[in-house]
Amino acid sequence: MKNPGAETQSVRFLMCRPEYFGVDYVINPWMKGNVGRTDREVAAMQWERLYEALKSVAEVELIEPQPGLPDMVFTANAGILIENEFVLTHFAKREREPEEPQFKKWFKERGVSVHLIPPNLLFEGAGDALLDGSGRWLWVAYGDRTSLETHPYLAKIFNIEVLSLRLTDPRFYHLDTCFMPMEDGYLMYYPGALDANSNRIVEERVPPDKRIELGMDEAVDFSANSVNIGKKVIMNRCSSGLRKRLSECGFEPIETPLTEFMKAGGSAKCLTLRLNEKTSVKRTAHSTVATRKVKMEGQLIDSHLMSRVCDSIIYGGGAFQLHEMRLGRKRNELSTAEIEVSAPSEQALDKIIRKIIPLGATPPQGESADALLAAVGKNGVAPENFYSTTIYHTEIRVDGEWVSVENLRMDGVVAVSGKTARCKLFRELEKGDKVVTGGEGIRIVRPVSEYSRQETFSFMGANISSERRAELTIERIAWEVNRIKNLNGRLVVVAGPVVVHTGGSAHLAQMVRDGYISALLGGNGTAAHDIELAMLGTSLGIDLRTGRSVEGGHRNHLVAINRIRRAGSIAKAVENGELKSGLFYELVKNNIPFCLAGSIRDDGPLPDTEMDLTKAQAEYSRLIKGADMILMLSSMLHAIGTGNMTPANVRLVCVDINPAVVTKLTDRGSLESVGIVTDVGLFLSQLVKELKIFSN
Ligand code: NAD
Repeated sequence: MKNPGAETQSVRFLMCRPEYFGVDYVINPWMKGNVGRTDREVAAMQWERLYEALKSVAEVELIEPQPGLPDMVFTANAGILIENEFVLTHFAKREREPEEPQFKKWFKERGVSVHLIPPNLLFEGAGDALLDGSGRWLWVAYGDRTSLETHPYLAKIFNIEVLSLRLTDPRFYHLDTCFMPMEDGYLMYYPGALDANSNRIVEERVPPDKRIELGMDEAVDFSANSVNIGKKVIMNRCSSGLRKRLSECGFEPIETPLTEFMKAGGSAKCLTLRLNEKTSVKRTAHSTVATRKVKMEGQLIDSHLMSRVCDSIIYGGGAFQLHEMRLGRKRNELSTAEIEVSAPSEQALDKIIRKIIPLGATPPQGESADALLAAVGKNGVAPENFYSTTIYHTEIRVDGEWVSVENLRMDGVVAVSGKTARCKLFRELEKGDKVVTGGEGIRIVRPVSEYSRQETFSFMGANISSERRAELTIERIAWEVNRIKNLNGRLVVVAGPVVVHTGGSAHLAQMVRDGYISALLGGNGTAAHDIELAMLGTSLGIDLRTGRSVEGGHRNHLVAINRIRRAGSIAKAVENGELKSGLFYELVKNNIPFCLAGSIRDDGPLPDTEMDLTKAQAEYSRLIKGADMILMLSSMLHAIGTGNMTPANVRLVCVDINPAVVTKLTDRGSLESVGIVTDVGLFLSQLVKELKIFSN
């Protein structure tokens, strides 16, 4: 076939008569409910009208329709022809695969070079690949029908720049259902069918005065699935608003109803394949699609790691090819997978890789590069593309060697100095520090036996689990707490003031006396109400013995705070005999360290409350070092704060009456966590009861 690109030649299309057209199966949302409901005569008439309309302004060639191939009428999906190079479609849907040899034969017979994309990739021709109106670049979609990995091939074969766009609405399953490049650089499209990054690319390339945006109503009329020849736009239907906008841009819409074909999800554009695309002379092959291989190993199916990795890739705007997947056949046998991750740009790929690293994705053996380091330019400010840490054991590749990150916590960055990698918070960064950026040379090492196990039990919630199971869970926690004590381990408790209001602080005080607790973390409220209870018998003005509020009791916690302020500290109040009982009395008496972190709600505050939050965070972090278990009791604020600085191998037990808080805390990726939805007072009384049984 001669190069038909020259301006002087008339426009040429390939069409296929709808002799065997019908909706025989469902492969897109438009076909649903329409199987067997097309009218062949009406379809034939509508097709002839389109054919005639096109013939009046262009040349039309025909391919012989084939029985059993109802969608062959949609020739746009045959492939894409630019100059003498034809890339044949490789259909995503099995139902359409038999069309491939028909189209291949037709083009071969006409002397065109026919290219096949690699067999593991998908490509649905000019349905998903559309030349810019001036032939300068190729817009190519990816999603269900065309693989992102196909884009670099197209760039190379056609020696053209490929711009990758991601389709997100299943109704607009091909790019040409929602996107139409037009003469003079215009573009008619429906932004709602593309993801945010794709819309940004479109806006960068097409100036606002050249963008004809469709509303949802116009998009579902398949207004963008039209044929543009010069200034004419041949389409199924044109709303009055669109007609006005098109004519303002110098275009003349010509309506030709194609309702029968709409039942199969196609309109004018789908029914034609342009045989002489207009191309620009100045072209270079270019695609920004970036690809990297990762490896996964572990209990990939049971722990849903595989599905979470796949979701992260797709939601991150990427695509993947599963190269190898070996499933462990027994419960504790490992599964392995090798995944090729692609994204429309190197930055998008970095973002995806950073998301899947915490799920255990690592570079395949010998395929990793050193981590990319960027220097801190200003004290306390990280370079833009910084890697943010998780709670998992992390290693960084420095000069070809993997080194463990020290001082690991969540939401920090990694600073590398020589062969040392250390987790730092923004405020700890100093000008010149070398910080890990991007997603290369970072791996998370998760011991295989310790894949996340999160459980939630409820005393009161109807559906989560039975009361009996929750009781058994507390019994198991008591067993573990007892064991930690016997092995000289560390149990750290995070407690909110509700512990006091529910009568739970007496049980905690008992646990301090009995030597179970290594440190206590809380806020001003926990101590204020505990001391109020010890001094005045109320918690937030409620007499805990009678459950009734006492006259003027609302100021009792202020009285308590004031007395401690007079004494100088909680320890001094214990020393001078003013504080004689309660949780904080026991902590002081038993030399158990505690940290009270300040908050905007605090009254007083107590002299012990650390109002400098940077210092409070550092002290919390110091006190949880080496913890075997952290018991988080009814304080969303302090529990989340603690959770963020806790490494993944520490056992978390979270107790709260609000299931959403429990889920949030147990779901944060700790390797083993248990959440209990119940009243914290009840929980502590049951726990202490069980502890007594173990210690007897
Ligand atoms: P928070 O909202 O972060 O957490 C309270 C949690 O307790 C919630 O998740 C809630 O669902 C849960 N809860 C409520 N009733 C419960 C029950 N019966 N059993 C189990 N869980 C229950 O608030 P917080 O941690 O209590 O307080 C936030 C900050 O305010 C802290 O720093 C605290 O010290 C401070 N504060 C100060 C004062 C004061 O100075 N007077 C008083 C209260 C709180």
